[in-house]
Amino acid sequence: MKKNDQWFRENIRQVHIDFHMPEFPRDAIHNFNAQEFVAEFVRAKANVIGVFTKCHFGNAFYDNTVGHRHSGLKEDFFGEVLAEAKKHDIKVIAYYSLGTDAHAVLNNPDWYQVDEFGKVRGSEGTVWELPCLNSPYREELVIPQVKEITEKYEMDGYLFDIPYLHNHYCFCNYCKKKFYEEHGQELTPELLKTNRELVVGFGIDTAARCMKEIYDVIRKIRPEVLVNCNGAWRMGEPASVNATSDYGLWESQPSATGSFLGHSIRARHIRTLDVPVQIMTVRFTEGWGLMSCKTAEQLKFEFACIMANGGIINIGDQVLPNGTLQSGVYDIIGEAFSFVEEREAFCIGAKSVRGIAVIADNTNNWYHDKDDAATFGSAKMLIEGHHQFDLYYNNDFPDLTGYRAVVLPENVKLSPESAERLRAFVQGGGLLLAEGSATYSREAKNFALADVLGLDYLERTPYSFAYLTEREELWKGVARIPQLVEGEFIKTVPTTAETLSLIQWPLTVPAVNRAFRHPMPPAGLVSDFPAISANRYGQGTALYIAAPVFRTYWNSNHFWVRRIVTNLLDLYDTGKTFETDAPVHVEANLMEKDGKKFLHLINFQNIHAGEKSSSFYDPIESITPVHDIEVRINDPLIRSATTRPDGLKLETVATERGIRFTVPKVHIHTIVELSDNE
Ligand SMILES: [Zn+2]
Repeated sequence: MKKNDQWFRENIRQVHIDFHMPEFPRDAIHNFNAQEFVAEFVRAKANVIGVFTKCHFGNAFYDNTVGHRHSGLKEDFFGEVLAEAKKHDIKVIAYYSLGTDAHAVLNNPDWYQVDEFGKVRGSEGTVWELPCLNSPYREELVIPQVKEITEKYEMDGYLFDIPYLHNHYCFCNYCKKKFYEEHGQELTPELLKTNRELVVGFGIDTAARCMKEIYDVIRKIRPEVLVNCNGAWRMGEPASVNATSDYGLWESQPSATGSFLGHSIRARHIRTLDVPVQIMTVRFTEGWGLMSCKTAEQLKFEFACIMANGGIINIGDQVLPNGTLQSGVYDIIGEAFSFVEEREAFCIGAKSVRGIAVIADNTNNWYHDKDDAATFGSAKMLIEGHHQFDLYYNNDFPDLTGYRAVVLPENVKLSPESAERLRAFVQGGGLLLAEGSATYSREAKNFALADVLGLDYLERTPYSFAYLTEREELWKGVARIPQLVEGEFIKTVPTTAETLSLIQWPLTVPAVNRAFRHPMPPAGLVSDFPAISANRYGQGTALYIAAPVFRTYWNSNHFWVRRIVTNLLDLYDTGKTFETDAPVHVEANLMEKDGKKFLHLINFQNIHAGEKSSSFYDPIESITPVHDIEVRINDPLIRSATTRPDGLKLETVATERGIRFTVPKVHIHTIVELSDNE
């Protein structure tokens, strides 16, 4: 039975408070005071907090009988914070470090994870001491502790951190034993090379089974508590792991380890799910635990991206060694949460208006892996081009009714049934845009949707990049020259497709006697192969670009590639619900709730980076407002437009397809409420 998660959906001002604390600081936890601690959250308008029961060092932060309590903790930390939070109607999520526990492995070395070289996964001076979830660590410490915590305290939710073995495999004796009993063969590093899928699959099963065991323990004691493991319901997360999480958590750190578009892109996936998902950012400028603090301006921007796109805001902090919080940080979070409070009623529970469905892969990544460039590159392009879209994981896309277009990045993995659904979608009048090797089958040596695209796969080329020949209507805002795409092209043979642009080979592949000024030589011979093509299929149209434009855009930021692709979409996607002349750095997203539509406009501006290889952090200090943004709403039912939260009724002009109006000013986040009332 589905648990009641309404409180989680409605309380989107969430703070997660890290408290990974070694025992050597002499004043550790000495100044902890639950009233003062919780007062910071009250002042900052937080309504959900994540509080520690056990940290990466393996120190328990509750009144325990199982495991090792932090030696600086007099009585209870978790329990006192929980009791105080309840007085202020703040919900509490109990954090438990699962996949890292220094105390456990240092005292029970046989519990360590072992890598493919036979080395234990120890910290070497970092926080990462990794116990194996197939060792008795689970039976003798984790489960008894979880039982004790759950029986003793009335928490609202749980967060289990790091459910996975490092890189999804371990060669400890306990893993070897379990693997042999299950698979009838030895678990060896050689097997990792010859049958990686089996070895990694066993590792993922380990996480899923451990979480299932934990989930069932909690459900028996407190069936109402929402359980989560970190990473659940991220795009590409295994279904078996998702099944053990009542809510999702997708970490996202703009600038430090990701793009400022990260929140928006993630939210455009998680909003298509049935479970609520936190997008978790941090107060720190460059990663967990660096005791710096972003500006309120930056947090307002980040929170706007999350709430406007259908996510749940969560921001991470870290307790000081002495057990107190930094009050100055809560001035900043408080200012940003006030900003959220003014807008959240228009965001909570809203659904996206259907436009484009991006269907793509996202690798089963471990925490340090990067997101798939093709997927994130397509999303970056569409956001910057002001296209309305949702993001789906491979075959998990719904009935496409209401979507006008489908975009397939090269990495998409589709079953024959899914390909058939897309064929029917185009047949029935839908628009399809595929790029590179999307739907290519090694067995068939052709695209699964070759008939829909109106072309057949021929082969690869000697070049790792090439040029697009100019086509006037696609070259709007782009210099009238052959345009470089820094990725490998595919030769295709049109059957019914019309060629819009041809592949122009580079002059050569640079080699001895064929060097050129730049490693990428200028365009040379124009080939006979289409670079961009369009094909009428049934009532619809299929567009194909014979190069990985999305991946290369994510990796190179070549703006001209985005302009050409979005010009192409603009040309064929003629039924857009909204259009705007907003600049590239203003994001637009259309949501609906209670019979009304809400157009969110979010403005972005960061500062210059210095030395690019080291100053990868480019903060937001102040955002300059953008004025007079033109918007056209192509929906005949819409009659009026009012900005929120300020309540300014905009002057509208009737158009053939709806209304148009000018939004006078967008500082960070302006919501335009669209209504069928005059
Ligand atoms: Zn193991």
